[in-house]
Amino acid sequence: MRRSRKVKILATLGPASSDEAMIAKLYEAGADVFRINMSHTDHASMRALVTRIREVEKRIGRPIGILADLQGPKLRVGTFTEKSVTLKVGQEFTLDADPASGDASRVHLPHPEILEAVEPGHRLLIDDGRLQLKAEKSDGRSILCRVVAGTTISDRKGVSLPDTELPLGALTDKDRKDLDAILTTGVDWIALSFIQRPEDLAEVRKIVRGRSALMAKIEKPQAVKRLPEIIELSDALMVARGDLGVEMPLERVPGIQKQITRACRRAGKPVVVATQMLESMITTPVPTRAEVSDVATAVFEGADAIMLSAESAAGKYPVEAVATMNSIAQQVERDPTYDSIINAQRGEPEATGADAISLASRQIAETLKLSAIITYTASGTTGLRAARERPYVPIIALSPVVETARRLSLVWGTHCVVSEDATDLDDMVDRACRIAYEEQFAKPGDRVIITAGVPLRTPGSTNMLRIAYIGSDGLGGL
Ligand code: PGA
Ligand code: MN
Repeated sequence: MRRSRKVKILATLGPASSDEAMIAKLYEAGADVFRINMSHTDHASMRALVTRIREVEKRIGRPIGILADLQGPKLRVGTFTEKSVTLKVGQEFTLDADPASGDASRVHLPHPEILEAVEPGHRLLIDDGRLQLKAEKSDGRSILCRVVAGTTISDRKGVSLPDTELPLGALTDKDRKDLDAILTTGVDWIALSFIQRPEDLAEVRKIVRGRSALMAKIEKPQAVKRLPEIIELSDALMVARGDLGVEMPLERVPGIQKQITRACRRAGKPVVVATQMLESMITTPVPTRAEVSDVATAVFEGADAIMLSAESAAGKYPVEAVATMNSIAQQVERDPTYDSIINAQRGEPEATGADAISLASRQIAETLKLSAIITYTASGTTGLRAARERPYVPIIALSPVVETARRLSLVWGTHCVVSEDATDLDDMVDRACRIAYEEQFAKPGDRVIITAGVPLRTPGSTNMLRIAYIGSDGLGGL
């Protein structure tokens, strides 16, 4: 099955989408990668989901990516005697180290290192910003705050600290246990939540040791500030607009989304735009005009993937939500303004064989109106550089490594096929032509362009570019 769009769709699985039949339906409607949210999934359910996705993959015969999203250091207050209390704007309210149940004057904050790190003047946003506090005094064991806005606080509500650099690493104890479990299942991507520093990625990379690719979720102002270094150390980024919109003024989020998308495109790292893309479809079968426009903006910017959260995980219309994203993406990519908008943000090639050949193959493919760019890529790097060019024609990435094909399923415009290494140059051309033909990207008489590093499997050796005809037998001719 081939998709007729370049942008990829990432669908979160959950109670509304956990059985195999539903996962297959979501794939057929357009989901290319599935996300398992470890905030809401135990190890047994995570393993079951991975097994079901792999069953669907086998049945459909296309590589499918799996992203496991770690919860990260999400801070929460303790509990209240009355479960929920009402506060007044202007009153004092204390967060402290005392585990006793809270009331209208105080509550436990079960993170001693946070009690130490918050300084007077810092904001504390509770329950996605519904309650805003400002720290006035802190003695290392308690923080005396003033209520700035909002009036309700209840058991275990989340706490965001946009002004405080938190003395926390990337992984909590729960994340470490989740990570160990995830790494035994062969998941393709691991997303790290609430990272603040490039060191957070380095720390996780040491544990993961290449067994999975790493996606940095940008959802804190501290991470936005250090974006270039974080991009450098990540395999992909997510614009995590949910928490980003709590930690930063909401009106800054669209601009930051564009900055992150452009920086990732320039670096050739996949970028995912996430959260509330079709939020109203959690309860209704049609989206709002504003949501359609939001999805379209991400597609026009050339994001690699657009994501569904509760819409596919817990909503009433998971299949409709994926199908809606699919049709918005197809329509945007056919719009007469699409190519010029995509072209305007294309990065200059770096001085490498892979980039020079990716640029040349795009120009040749577009000049000669070829049917596809076919790239042999063992590690996926050449595939990523080909996608970085955002060519008008489809990219077919051929890899002997199934893990590479699965990872690349997140990447813009890339149709991945697992294929053994070619034995020689003739075989390389024949194989590429046959796959382009079988996968319905080219008919006999069409031409394609093939890029590879010869000898195959030598990283960084991309050095070959070849134009070939699809022969009448579907093999390479001339
Ligand atoms: P979450 O991340 O769904 O895990 O919170 C995405 C976001 O914050 O936007
Ligand atoms: Mn988040």
